Amino acid sequence: MVKETKYYDLLDVAPDATDAELKKAYRKKALRLHPDKGGDPELFKEVTHAYEILSDPEKRKIYDARGEAGLSEQGGMGGMDPQDLFSQLFGGAGGFFGGGGRPSGPRKTKDLVHRVSVTLEELYKGKTTKLALTRNIICTKCKGRGGKEGANRSCTTCAGRGIRVTLRQMGPMIQQIQTTCDECNGTGEIIQAKDRCSNCKGKKVVPEKKLLEVHIDKGMKGGQTIYFRGESDQAPGAEPGDVVIVVDEKPHERFKRQEYDLITEVEIDLLTALGGGQFAIHHLDDRALIVHLEPGIVIKHGDLKVIPGQGMPSQRHHEPGDLYIKISVRFPDTINTESITQLERALPPRNTIEKFDKKVVLEEVIMSDADSRQRRGMYNNHDESMEDEHDEGRVQCANQ
Ligand SMILES: [Zn+2]
Ligand SMILES: [Zn+2]
Repeated sequence: MVKETKYYDLLDVAPDATDAELKKAYRKKALRLHPDKGGDPELFKEVTHAYEILSDPEKRKIYDARGEAGLSEQGGMGGMDPQDLFSQLFGGAGGFFGGGGRPSGPRKTKDLVHRVSVTLEELYKGKTTKLALTRNIICTKCKGRGGKEGANRSCTTCAGRGIRVTLRQMGPMIQQIQTTCDECNGTGEIIQAKDRCSNCKGKKVVPEKKLLEVHIDKGMKGGQTIYFRGESDQAPGAEPGDVVIVVDEKPHERFKRQEYDLITEVEIDLLTALGGGQFAIHHLDDRALIVHLEPGIVIKHGDLKVIPGQGMPSQRHHEPGDLYIKISVRFPDTINTESITQLERALPPRNTIEKFDKKVVLEEVIMSDADSRQRRGMYNNHDESMEDEHDEGRVQCANQ
């Protein structure tokens, strides 16, 4: 039995959640709430704090027994930067969001994340694209020292640590606050203006333009990433991070993609649906697929057909996906009354009217088209093809 459930509620988990469940829940929430994704920064902070407490077995024990009050009696650290915890969990500094954050292992510079927008045609055929980016490289003139040899002095304000720690008494607890040293901008070193390298102005690094060749493989999907290891910024005493290319798949006007399958919609006329014929599908490469419809086989409105192997190519040369075709049949608005006898010969007979009990009064009525306002009311959130289906239904209802 836990004293409070606030932190569990923030993560949408039960108080008996396992560590794995907690982590999963936090990932899900944090991805949605991350300020870089337009989430609420305050809520993101709260959720991160809740996870920080619950993922620490000691702190969780205290929270379960005595609630939030129990934790503040413990005193201690002022809490972790939510960005940092987020980065730890999602791997690498900044992860997909390009945000700040200090990695915990050997120092590594931030990953550079670029999104590349590609069409479905390009994903179908594969594509090589060149990407120009600017990154920092170690200054060759001073070899990353920032100035003359021996000109670097340890910063006295922060004792060369680059951070300043201040303690603050808040009621019963002492809070420890870490800030970047503003004297040395967190580098821990000071170089006198006259000793600074003229090439990098003492910054130790200089910007460099670099051209990367990005191979978009056949069959890649939106959200997939391409890594260029160690191609991010260089910095003295740090390992360069990666350049991460994120593939963005543009929506297509003719095809929808579902993993390796493609879905398209084809409209055929009533005569073709009943009497056979053909239609064409312009594919994602320079081909048009011609589909023959056998006379004598009826294609119905709403039928779903499939052409095997005509979906997206698979990335690792396995079986390609399939092409699904949603068929709609276009009905004529009117028909020549003289041809109706021919239709009567060709089609199954009409449905006869239902036999009613003698008590039921038969009343003849007039049916007309519903206007667009009425239709909207009836079929809100439905697309055109849905309306067509309902049209048929409505005619049947009125016949009864
Ligand atoms: Zn230099
Ligand atoms: Zn300093």
